[in-house]
Amino acid sequence: MTLTHAEKILIVGGGQAAAQACASLRQYGYSGQLSLIGDEAVLPYQRPPLSKAYMKGELSQDRLSFKPEAWYQAQNIDCHLSMRVTRINRAERTIETRDGTHHPYDALILATGSRPRPLPLPGGDLPGLYDLRTLSDVDGLRPQMKAGQKLVIIGAGYIGLEAAAIAMTLELDVTVLEMAPRVLARVTSPMISRFFEAEHKARGVDIRTGVQVTGIRAENGVARAVCLSDGTDMPADIILAGIGILPNTELAEQAGLSCSNGILTDRDARTSDPRIYAAGDCAARPLIHYGRTGRLESVHNAIEQGKLAAAAIMGQKRPAEDCPWFWSDQYDLKLQIAGLSADYDQYVLRGCIETRKFAVFYLRAGQLIAVDAINSPAEFLMTKRLIISGARLAPEALSDTSRTMKEIAATAI
Ligand code: FAD
Repeated sequence: MTLTHAEKILIVGGGQAAAQACASLRQYGYSGQLSLIGDEAVLPYQRPPLSKAYMKGELSQDRLSFKPEAWYQAQNIDCHLSMRVTRINRAERTIETRDGTHHPYDALILATGSRPRPLPLPGGDLPGLYDLRTLSDVDGLRPQMKAGQKLVIIGAGYIGLEAAAIAMTLELDVTVLEMAPRVLARVTSPMISRFFEAEHKARGVDIRTGVQVTGIRAENGVARAVCLSDGTDMPADIILAGIGILPNTELAEQAGLSCSNGILTDRDARTSDPRIYAAGDCAARPLIHYGRTGRLESVHNAIEQGKLAAAAIMGQKRPAEDCPWFWSDQYDLKLQIAGLSADYDQYVLRGCIETRKFAVFYLRAGQLIAVDAINSPAEFLMTKRLIISGARLAPEALSDTSRTMKEIAATAI
């Protein structure tokens, strides 16, 4: 079902996908009632700077917001903040908020995002054990990050490593503990893992891989040491956990929508109920360039699905779908990732790792499926285009640095 003249559209969640859906609905000419209900106390804001410039103290809070309050007022968007949606009643087409109020909808967009995976260990819920997801997490953590303090980070994913990089520039004493045998193991190849591990170690981060954390120990009721399976305790002034996220699918599940590691959607961000859409970290969508369904955790995905949902609700042509892309900033290294490398059977290095400006391309059955580009924007941008066109390239062409990416792309079949 396509709603072209919906009278009331409700958006649950107040993050990237929600903000985009608001903007796109108005751009597509929707003039009916539009409400956003989010459980954080602030208007939608960017999360990436939380582990980058904002954590470092280089960006003020007002620069994080996508739009100022005046924009929501001018667009006639009703924002309910600090308000949690507790239930969807699909038969009545209403949602219920924590204060017991029922809000009707003609179309509903679930943009509930994700939450940090809790540490399933003794002491995993102690005060003084920090997460890094929200503005209030960073506002709690940041004042503790003083030079000389001992910071132990559990988890060497993007967020753990970005936080480690900022903490080093703030002159903390930083240890990163990782259960897997290498950093970034879930998201990239061993070559890129080795590179980032070496970069952090060269700056003094104590990175320990293959380490099993068994619990958190408190002193005076506050987390003060990380306990390891070899029986040692690692004392810390600050402990930060970054062990991944879980999609917020509970509302959808309780309402009987199809879910499988995310709220399942079609290409238009429509769930198994044609009046309900899902966008962003909470949704599992068709990954059209990879022939499977998956959940993405990125700004680009939240923006794209916010637009797709708005277009579908307004009966507009589906906007073009880009290939997935991400980025991570650590020290002076900009990692830009296009595509999904998980199933690669061959990789090709372009450039020289020692120059700290290189790219690793990933291929599957001769087809280019992803790139990790370090300080190499041309490789990133061209790979995005090549993935969308389903290009096949000779590996030796990709590694040939005497030719530009444009020249190499011209050899694609
Ligand atoms: P969110 O931004 O999580 O928003 C969801 C909102 O809904 C939250 O405010 C949540 O509290 C609220 N909510 C949930 N349930 C309810 C409910 N029942 N009622 C009301 N409100 C509810 N991506 C990149 O591409 N590049 C990066 O460099 C990058 N860096 C990151 C750094 C950090 C520290 C973090 C945390 C994320 C980073 N990301 C990055 C990921 C990116 O920010 C997310 O993928 C994006 O924010 C997802 O947007 P979203 O709208 O789906 O969810």
